[in-house]
Amino acid sequence: QLVIWRIVQLPMLLIPPFLISLGAMTAELSRDTLGASRLARELRESEHRLQLAAKAAGAGLWSWDAASGRVWATEQARTMLGLAPTGEVDADDLFEIAASDDTAVRAALRRALKQGGEHRVQFRVVVPGNEMRWIVAQGLVELDLEGKPQRVRGVLRDVTQQRRAEDEANELRRKLWHVGRVTMLGQLSSALAHELSQPLSAIQHNAEAARRLFMREPLDLEELRDIVDDVLRDNGRAAAVVQRLRSWFKHGQLHSETIPLIELAQDVLALVRADATGKHVKIDCTVAYELPPVVGDRVHLSQVLLNLVMNAMDAVVGTSGARRHVVIEARVGLNGYCEVSVGDSGPGIPPDKLEQIFDPFCTSKTAGMGVGLSISRTIIEAHGGKLWAENGAAGGATFRFTVPVQSTELMCTV
Ligand code: ADP
Repeated sequence: QLVIWRIVQLPMLLIPPFLISLGAMTAELSRDTLGASRLARELRESEHRLQLAAKAAGAGLWSWDAASGRVWATEQARTMLGLAPTGEVDADDLFEIAASDDTAVRAALRRALKQGGEHRVQFRVVVPGNEMRWIVAQGLVELDLEGKPQRVRGVLRDVTQQRRAEDEANELRRKLWHVGRVTMLGQLSSALAHELSQPLSAIQHNAEAARRLFMREPLDLEELRDIVDDVLRDNGRAAAVVQRLRSWFKHGQLHSETIPLIELAQDVLALVRADATGKHVKIDCTVAYELPPVVGDRVHLSQVLLNLVMNAMDAVVGTSGARRHVVIEARVGLNGYCEVSVGDSGPGIPPDKLEQIFDPFCTSKTAGMGVGLSISRTIIEAHGGKLWAENGAAGGATFRFTVPVQSTELMCTV
């Protein structure tokens, strides 16, 4: 007051009340300034941390602010989009990069900008050097009160490798499907030739026997009738094979029925007995009558057993002067399956070929087709069972297959 009344001559700035309020204001201001600089430091720190995390995750971050109209993007995001590492970027540029050749992406982005909220799009970018990249963009659009986009934040991920792997897997799947189908068709036609060869050669033998019989005097009508019956039976067998394979091919289905294993073994024994006697091979069948019947396709299962027994006979005949012995056995296995085995006293199978012999056209025989085992495996697998080969400790090979004893619907995809 004294200074104001000019009784005391002093500069206004130096009077105590002014100095006190100035000091208080300065203290307050410095506290705010310090707080602001601490906040700025923390903000920079968390921004660095975020960028580091995004870089480690291979993600690029970007945002757009309506107020400033500017786009901010990390180095990673710029590289992904094929943009220069520095320099201004326009929101329209970003939109054009993402939606340049894809109307679906364009529509999705427009919808997100209109409705707000989260969005996720996948688009292609051709970066300098003509390299094509697949990018997944995930983002959040914030709208203002008038419903106009105010801020957009997003994360970009380069999924080119993943996309390439997916394309390759699809291509591989397509090729496999094709190969599988061709193999299946090849197997079916080979199966037809293979399965028909047995009854056709039996018919041939019987026809030759009948011709020889006609030359004899007096004509043995009884024997002739037997031969004609055999021809009719073999013809029926051939017709059944064709019919069954045709229906399998057509519907991808096997004809399922209940078959006592002993019947299956006897059917096969009846077919090979003459051949076995001629080749001096002893066949033992120890299939018990009391075994539960199996469920499956009679023609196909007997074809598998016949093929295994004929292979076993070929194997023992190949051995010089050794015991020529083939054993057919069957037993109830686990989980409602029966296991049938055909063992022989032949040379066995080289250990490295135990799996290979099931491949189509794998044969060691001069006149072999090498399809019998592969077809047999297809048939057994179509019945839900397994077919494999083993070598016995005392020599020789044993082939085993399993077939279900319960009633199940047999399906096979052709
Ligand atoms: P193929 O009889 O026309 O050769 P398979 O598919 O039935 O066709 O058999 C493939 C191969 O498996 C035979 O050529 C043979 O080398 C081998 N093989 C099959 N059964 C036996 C067996 N019991 N003992 C030894 N080798 C066998």
